[in-house]
Amino acid sequence: MAASSCIFCQIARSSTSTILLHQDHKVIAFQDINPSAFRHYLVIPIEHIPTVNDLHKRSEDYTLVSHMLNVGQTLLQRDAPQAKEYRFGFHQPPFNSIDHLHLHCLALPFIPRWRELKYSSLGPLGGFVEAGVLLERIKPSF
Ligand SMILES: [Zn+2]
Ligand SMILES: [Zn+2]
Repeated sequence: MAASSCIFCQIARSSTSTILLHQDHKVIAFQDINPSAFRHYLVIPIEHIPTVNDLHKRSEDYTLVSHMLNVGQTLLQRDAPQAKEYRFGFHQPPFNSIDHLHLHCLALPFIPRWRELKYSSLGPLGGFVEAGVLLERIKPSF
């Protein structure tokens, strides 16, 4: 998909009516259009990076994902401080819905309950990777 027709690139350029929860020079955050939990946000890089398969063991990628996670954690701590559990992660191809990297940030419980299957690395599809696991994978060896 060309970046110009990518819906997340359009949101990043503020050419949609999507309300941004966070915006800086690297990333933006907004609500998932079809929430699966009490709070469900997406954090995406402004740069069009298609999927986790495009991230590599280099400090630039590691720093970006750490920053995305940080932004997501800060937003959920602000908006869902009483949540019993949080979950942060990415869908790996072919299980990703949109080919623009996005971090799912969830404050549980899942609504409805069965949606958990989509956001569990132990689910039948195994298509979800938690942010911490991905960070270990792309951690550069200094
Ligand atoms: Zn894009
Ligand atoms: Zn997704």
